[in-house]
Amino acid sequence: QVLHGEARRGRPKARSAAAALRRLNSAVHYVPYRGALGPRSALRIVRQFDIVADCSDNVPTRYLLSDACVLARKPLVSGSALRLEGQLVVYNHGGGPCYRCLFPEPPPPDAVTNCADGGVLGAVTGIIGCLQALEVLKIASGMGSSFSRAMLVFDALEGRFRNIKLRPRKADCAVCGERPSITCLQDYEAFCGSSATESCRALRLLPGADRVSVQHYRALLQARVPHLLLDVRPQVEVDICRLQHAVHVPLRKLQDRDEEALRYLQKRICEERQRTDGQSALPVYVVCKLGNDSQKAVKILQELPATEFGSVVAKDIRGGLMAWATKIDSTFPQY
Ligand SMILES: [Zn+2]
Repeated sequence: QVLHGEARRGRPKARSAAAALRRLNSAVHYVPYRGALGPRSALRIVRQFDIVADCSDNVPTRYLLSDACVLARKPLVSGSALRLEGQLVVYNHGGGPCYRCLFPEPPPPDAVTNCADGGVLGAVTGIIGCLQALEVLKIASGMGSSFSRAMLVFDALEGRFRNIKLRPRKADCAVCGERPSITCLQDYEAFCGSSATESCRALRLLPGADRVSVQHYRALLQARVPHLLLDVRPQVEVDICRLQHAVHVPLRKLQDRDEEALRYLQKRICEERQRTDGQSALPVYVVCKLGNDSQKAVKILQELPATEFGSVVAKDIRGGLMAWATKIDSTFPQY
């Protein structure tokens, strides 16, 4: 994040980063590669360099890069950041583990929060990125790394750095172990059940019938169809922007089955129902930033007891408020 500025908005990140670095040190030769790293290109690219830094933001690319570095015998300086936390590890170096040694199985796709959904403070990525650069320089100059058997965890809110000791390389690791089952690169998006590119990093938890487009929702608003709009984003995001008529209950509270939040929701559903004929089920449309959390919330609403909440039909608004901002209301803030 700290390499990219407003002046280069819209430019490919690799080129923008190369331009920023060239301004810092023009004596270095920079080679930007445009396009996503895939199983077909990764080994060819990784083999040309002595040290690899993982600055990616998604699980499939982390497995891909780690496997490629094991196969090409390169150290991997890996950094990650989310919200107010960052981590740093050097994989496949000095007898330490690879990414797969620590995480043999990918997490379930709906348990992963990415930067686009969760957000990250630019300064946090800057701190982790500078530490990555430092480890790269230490390895390149023969000083070795402090993090080949330790994970650095940075908590920006507490202002604290901690080192967690890591186990050594696993003898039975599928890629760096003694009898590896992975000897070439695979389809990592299929392995992880999620996409590596942001534009299609969308969850599909619900069938199409349980989802509506922003255009459909606008038509429904214009026709004054009775319904409840439920915004499930965290309070900080609601404070940035919101649709005025939305009722707000954060997803976290729904997941925790928070009693006060559920009572509030029940009351609002009841009030809205009084505007209708009381015969048919009340539609509840759920919205979040990008349309991932809203699907999780719809699943929870579908399980609520009809004895307390009455008959409701919960649906998710595809693409969330950011789709609303790009397709319906260009004055709606994007963040
Ligand atoms: Zn391993």
